[in-house]
Amino acid sequence: MAQYRGRFAPSATGPLHLGSILAALVSYIHAKQHHGEWLIRIDDLDEKRCKQIHVDSILECLDAFGFRPSGSVCRQTDRITDYQNALVSLDNQRRLYPCTCTRKSLPKGPYPGFCRHQIGQTLIAESAVRIDTSDMDLTVDDLIATSSIIQPPGDFIVKRRDGLFAYQLACAVDEQIDGITHVIRGIDLLDSTPMQRFITQCLGYESPTYGHFPVLVGADGAKLSKQTFAEPVDWTRPGETFAVIARLLLLNDTPGPTDHAHVWLDFFVSLDNLIPKLIKASHANTLSL
Ligand code: GLU
Ligand code: ZN
Repeated sequence: MAQYRGRFAPSATGPLHLGSILAALVSYIHAKQHHGEWLIRIDDLDEKRCKQIHVDSILECLDAFGFRPSGSVCRQTDRITDYQNALVSLDNQRRLYPCTCTRKSLPKGPYPGFCRHQIGQTLIAESAVRIDTSDMDLTVDDLIATSSIIQPPGDFIVKRRDGLFAYQLACAVDEQIDGITHVIRGIDLLDSTPMQRFITQCLGYESPTYGHFPVLVGADGAKLSKQTFAEPVDWTRPGETFAVIARLLLLNDTPGPTDHAHVWLDFFVSLDNLIPKLIKASHANTLSL
């Protein structure tokens, strides 16, 4: 396995926005600073929400921002057989059960295990499939985040009633296939980590190291409004977006007004105080403009 292999895994549900470029950038910087490889994975399992037009725009945009992956881009929809094999393997361990609960019948919060008695029963296409998490470890061991509060998810879904493999299962299998050693992503995904690590352990994979960096907030301390946050970045002007990010991170001696993406990327990668800065910002869990 490579010494370091990281990745950026955007969902193909829309064009990249400021938060996505920040996620790409932080994972990229971390990989490059460790002389590692960095890959792009397209999360496109949800056929209803994911469109080819978004895949194209995401890849075009990443290219315009100078992000060159160390290997070919992979897509989750090419890996259905791998996810199915993982599901069978978990089922053979008698960890899975069909769940027929309706959303309405469930209380808020972690799944209370109503269908757990059905463990080992044949998994039928019409039911969701859950995994028994009674021996799941919820401790957080993070490279960046300092928060250690994780909501226990209960027996979470690994395959949905509509037949889609859940992101938690797919992601754990993907990291294994791609030989990912470091998962650096936004703190909004922190709650997913114990679930992904649990599947990783059940399947006997080696677990990647995780790092979750803070989310973006506006000057008033509020999370960036949906409008600002979700606005697609202008991929003809990467310098503009990189300048906003540099401001967010309170960086000095920035490259100035240039749209040469590689100049910006070299600048970011050269900063050895960036990850420590993120760790410091993690105490507040946010980065402000
Ligand atoms: N595609 C998911 C997202 O964009 C997962 C990302 C990840 O695991 O890094 O939220
Ligand atoms: Zn149930």
